[in-house]
Amino acid sequence: MPRAKTVVEQADRPKTGRDVAAEIAYLTRAMKAPSLLACVERLAERARAESWTHEEFLAACLQREVSARDSSGGEQRIRTARFPARKSLEEFDFEHQRSANRQTIAHLGTLDFVAAKENIVFLGPPGTGKTHLATGWGIRACQAGHRVAFATAAEWVARLHEAHRNGTLHAELVKLGRIPLLIIDEVGYIPFEAEAANLFFQLVSSRYERASMIVTSNMPFGRWGEVFGDEVVAAAMIDRLVHHAEVVALKGDSYRVRNRDLGRQVPPAEQHDHR
Ligand code: ADP
Ligand code: MG
Repeated sequence: MPRAKTVVEQADRPKTGRDVAAEIAYLTRAMKAPSLLACVERLAERARAESWTHEEFLAACLQREVSARDSSGGEQRIRTARFPARKSLEEFDFEHQRSANRQTIAHLGTLDFVAAKENIVFLGPPGTGKTHLATGWGIRACQAGHRVAFATAAEWVARLHEAHRNGTLHAELVKLGRIPLLIIDEVGYIPFEAEAANLFFQLVSSRYERASMIVTSNMPFGRWGEVFGDEVVAAAMIDRLVHHAEVVALKGDSYRVRNRDLGRQVPPAEQHDHR
């Protein structure tokens, strides 16, 4: 039996004498649409077999390219965001962390907070899932098409310090302002010097009502005065941060050591599960 002819050979070549396959290859390269090139032949076959209209065929082609871009764009944004580890909301055990109110979580799940330029603040002792949840929402936001940047408070301050030294602080804040979601992890682990506190304050106020933040801290707001070395600065910062925010107070023992209850015999089945 002779080799089945490709769609392009069958359908287009004889009529016009043009090398349509080569044209499509060239045009999709020029458009940077490799997924369109990859699917066009298969879709053309289906279109002929199922008598699609020209418009239906075009829509199907574009649909493939758009979904390929969406998913690879999401991956690209996740890499650019620099999460410390890949942690998803699906992996988070909300039964273990009951203080994370389901309704709040469901509301945040819609990602409306990014569009509304609101914030989320996770407060709680070490190991209660603050970084995990911040990352989980960050990844969701990336997948939904938002640019995200993750760093610890100390790293953000170091970055702003650098910009300040170079005389580009304003430009840096403007640049960061174009990122719809900034994640600031671990506020409070290291107390800030006065200048660092001031830079951090500028970061928070530059984003107030303009772009979202997710902030995590092991310190309750009542102790942020100690963190920033100044009650007034801390109060002004908290004010801007929580004015449009969901504040989630996480409670309980560290998830990392949840099975290491020294007074309890751990059944063998659970022992592998230490983190
Ligand atoms: P924190 O930032 O509050 O110190 P992490 O988010 O780093 O805590 O959590 C510590 C570890 O425990 C991480 O590996 C995280 O994935 C895991 N973890 C914490 N809470 C939960 C939970 N409720 N469900 C699943 N994993 C959790
Ligand atoms: Mg953490």
